[in-house]
Amino acid sequence: QPSVAIIGSGQAGLQVAVSLRELHYEGRVVLIGDEPHLPYSRPPLSKAYLLGETADLALRPQGYFAQHHIELIAGKRAVAIDRTRRMVGLEDESVIEYDHLVLATGARNRPLPIPGAELGNVFLLRTLDEANVLREQMVTARNIVVIGAGFIGLEFAATATKFDAIVTVLDVADRPMARALSKTMSAVFTREHEKSGVRLMFNSQVMRLLGERHVTAVETVDGQVLPADLVLVGIGVIPNVELAATCNLTVENGIVVDEFLQTNDPHISAIGDVAAYPNRYSNGARVRLESVQNASDQARCVASRIMGQPAAYEAVPWFWSTQGNLKLQMAGLPSGGCEEVVRGDLNSSKCSVFLFRDGKLACVETLNKPADHMLARRLLAERAALTPGQAADPTFDLKALLQ
Ligand code: FAD
Repeated sequence: QPSVAIIGSGQAGLQVAVSLRELHYEGRVVLIGDEPHLPYSRPPLSKAYLLGETADLALRPQGYFAQHHIELIAGKRAVAIDRTRRMVGLEDESVIEYDHLVLATGARNRPLPIPGAELGNVFLLRTLDEANVLREQMVTARNIVVIGAGFIGLEFAATATKFDAIVTVLDVADRPMARALSKTMSAVFTREHEKSGVRLMFNSQVMRLLGERHVTAVETVDGQVLPADLVLVGIGVIPNVELAATCNLTVENGIVVDEFLQTNDPHISAIGDVAAYPNRYSNGARVRLESVQNASDQARCVASRIMGQPAAYEAVPWFWSTQGNLKLQMAGLPSGGCEEVVRGDLNSSKCSVFLFRDGKLACVETLNKPADHMLARRLLAERAALTPGQAADPTFDLKALLQ
């Protein structure tokens, strides 16, 4: 019997299994994950879940797996891949054979490389188990410090303002979400977060965390000491490439794959947060994206190839980040050096920024404007010839450019 093994039962790994069954794959499907849970959705972990608003994060109910003959192995790590014999070894020394192997091992949080990072009440946020502990501690925290003004840090900060706490966000950069967002949209987020009571400190580097067993304060390089009884660290991720590297798959910033998401071994694919792939929207340069869209669409692409219908992966990248009342959506690839064109009123909490590279639309950021976001995805997919002038003109109908 043919078989597909999938390592990593997160967003991407689960979707491969689901898509294979939807496409009527008849072989064995084994989904291996080291977390002791049903595959679940991570985005609520920094948002509604912490407020107790979303209880069940499972992407499929328990019964789904037996019904669809998906062998879910939860709570066991894959520790070795034998490419010659096409076998995966698990930590309990059991072995899974495969015809095709999909690596969907995701990423882990980058630890804070300073003294005091190991103190109690200093949290990273990636897994359900981490969110559960954090959720308990947030209720009583009075001084919350977030290190890193990226998506997760700001989502968490916006959530934390709902509790009775002073919330401060520190970042070495000079603005929020500096790696991903235009300066214009960053400024809107600074204003809106400050309005809702978040204290933002930029150009600010943390030197150490103070405390005996639990954290009590955060000290910055320029000598400021901020009281803290809870610290959240959100300073980016490290892709989980080690397993791939030990069996000599090519690894750079992620597991290197081609446009079909295939590694240098034709029997092994890599997808989701761990995969570095040549992106049509970056002129073929390799990128590694961290989004639900990327994980799900790449999974579908690989499932189709396994079913004998190969196609290059070309989906328009898109992403969302909900920070309190602020719903940010992005379509296309963020990058520096773009012309920033505003559509709508920047002083309101509803606006869009259209980014043009060499006169061509490259990315669209929208705040609380879901209709613009949906149009942006189509404009990018169709490579519509939108000009900066048209984008800036609120009376210009964007739909007119769509086929
Ligand atoms: P993961 O979901 O990380 O799954 C990988 C799994 O593989 C993990 O369970 C890991 O433990 C397991 N694994 C790793 N190595 C092994 C091994 N050797 N053996 C067995 N198992 C292994 N994206 C958005 O688009 N919008 C959002 O609003 C958003 N919010 C987010 C909020 C938070 C708090 C986090 C953490 C992420 C958020 N994301 C968001 C990103 C999104 O969740 C990820 O891009 C997505 O989960 C990636 O899916 P993945 O399957 O590649 O990796």
